[in-house]
Amino acid sequence: MIHFRTDNEIELLRQAALLVGKTLGEVGKHIRPGVRTIDLDKLAEEFIRDHGATPAFKGYEGFPGSLCISVNEQVVHGIPGNYELRDGDIVSIDCGTVLNGYVGDSAYTFCCGEVPEEVRLLLKRTKESLYKGIEVAVAGNRVGDIGYAVQSHVEQFGYGVVRELVGHGVGRKMHEDPQVPNYGKRGTGVKLNEGMVLAIEPMITLGKKEIVQERDGWTITTRDRKPAAHFEHDIAVRHGKAEILSSFEWAEAVENNK
Ligand code: MG
Ligand code: MG
Repeated sequence: MIHFRTDNEIELLRQAALLVGKTLGEVGKHIRPGVRTIDLDKLAEEFIRDHGATPAFKGYEGFPGSLCISVNEQVVHGIPGNYELRDGDIVSIDCGTVLNGYVGDSAYTFCCGEVPEEVRLLLKRTKESLYKGIEVAVAGNRVGDIGYAVQSHVEQFGYGVVRELVGHGVGRKMHEDPQVPNYGKRGTGVKLNEGMVLAIEPMITLGKKEIVQERDGWTITTRDRKPAAHFEHDIAVRHGKAEILSSFEWAEAVENNK
């Protein structure tokens, strides 16, 4: 069932999403070689609770962390732990908050130290593909238009688009209808209408698109162990132009300061 949100509800969703954006910035400040991913998780949880919200991921289907932290060949759903970040790692931070009953869900992939040019480009182009998807997430278009926009942008560089994991509606629950794949055909799928709120989240691989699930039951890794990038925004569908509810402002401030 697809929910259509009132302006008032969209405002509440924006508040939750902005808190995620601030949390991503806070976490980003601490990304450096030698830091354990569990330490990033702790500071995110504290930051979220200090702002009157709860971490949406904690306990979600049994997930132990407040963040999903996925390093290098890990695509998504990495569990925070004792791994110490190294120079040259890329670190996807996926964060969710519940604030006043509404969920924010956004992700950013950071660089830790000196990252090879080839991988930096993967990050840049994956982020670009997210905005390509957002550009066509307008009333009257269809979900397939979003997938097509993301896919056609990244495949020109020979990257892979993960098929098994998709974006989604977001509202009072983290995962609502419809599903929003990062691949597709133009003019197909669910019709987009004013008031739909979607999490669009390209998961793009430097090598092949195939993934495997690790034995921890959560972590999704590329089968060929090549790096993957992940960026996610929450948006409200409008006529003419989507409204981006989350923000990379804080994450980008950190990245640009390194
Ligand atoms: Mg997410
Ligand atoms: Mg999501």
